Amino acid sequence: MLEFQNVTKRYSESGDALSEVSFALEPGELAFLTGHSGAGKSTLLRLIPVIERPTRGKIVLDGQPINRLTQREIPFLRRKLGLIFQDYRLLHDRTVFDNVALPLAIAGYSPVEIGRRVRAALDKVGLLRKEKRYPKGLSGGEQQRVGIARAIVHKPPVILADEPTGNLDPELSAEIMGLFREFNAVGVTLLIATHDLGLISRMACRRLRLHQGRLLEGG
Ligand code: ADP
Ligand code: ADP
Repeated sequence: MLEFQNVTKRYSESGDALSEVSFALEPGELAFLTGHSGAGKSTLLRLIPVIERPTRGKIVLDGQPINRLTQREIPFLRRKLGLIFQDYRLLHDRTVFDNVALPLAIAGYSPVEIGRRVRAALDKVGLLRKEKRYPKGLSGGEQQRVGIARAIVHKPPVILADEPTGNLDPELSAEIMGLFREFNAVGVTLLIATHDLGLISRMACRRLRLHQGRLLEGG
């Protein structure tokens, strides 16, 4: 479903953030990307939606090499991905419903279809009753669940999460991990960057360990 072949990413300011990284995730696999701050986790994740492009090497998503995609083709690639961030990245002047509806509105879905899908996504994360609220009135855990509903509303086959529990206490973090497991149980492929080793130590999952831009384990 996702393959990196000898991927290197060099920033002119700071040198190689990733060096010769190779790994493959099968469809339906759940893997954690670990490593200290600065190890290259965010850089690796940003290459997949083509927020950044690799300096060398090849990336294949769902059978499609993404290196040579044009700007026009990138939005179609991104529809296969659900992105989740540490800081939620919600729009604070929009309701919960409108935040989750955003990807569908951009993709041109009808209002009826948007309503149906947004409520299904909110139901999945347990926020159906809060659709009219604004993000500011929600707890951190609830805001992240809105971020997750937004990421899954278009039913992407792959979910990428960058420190999704970085701002949450252990109990809420475990809840979020429970949601990820549920998505995984229905066949979604997930790659989750985290430095919270305590959280994932109890989960029997594949671990890709980055150290100074090199994949030391799991490749
Ligand atoms: P992590 O997510 O594991 O903390 P990052 O991918 O953010 O690691 O960073 C890896 C390395 O790349 C660090 O040395 C960081 O300073 C550098 N880096 C990340 N993004 C950029 C950028 N946009 N420009 C220059 N250097 C960057
Ligand atoms: P995180 O630690 O949450 O993974 P970072 O702090 O590494 O994220 O990166 C946050 C933002 O800062 C990113 O957009 C990244 O591109 C940018 N960034 C990180 N390191 C550098 C750097 N050395 N030079 C320029 N931009 C950077």
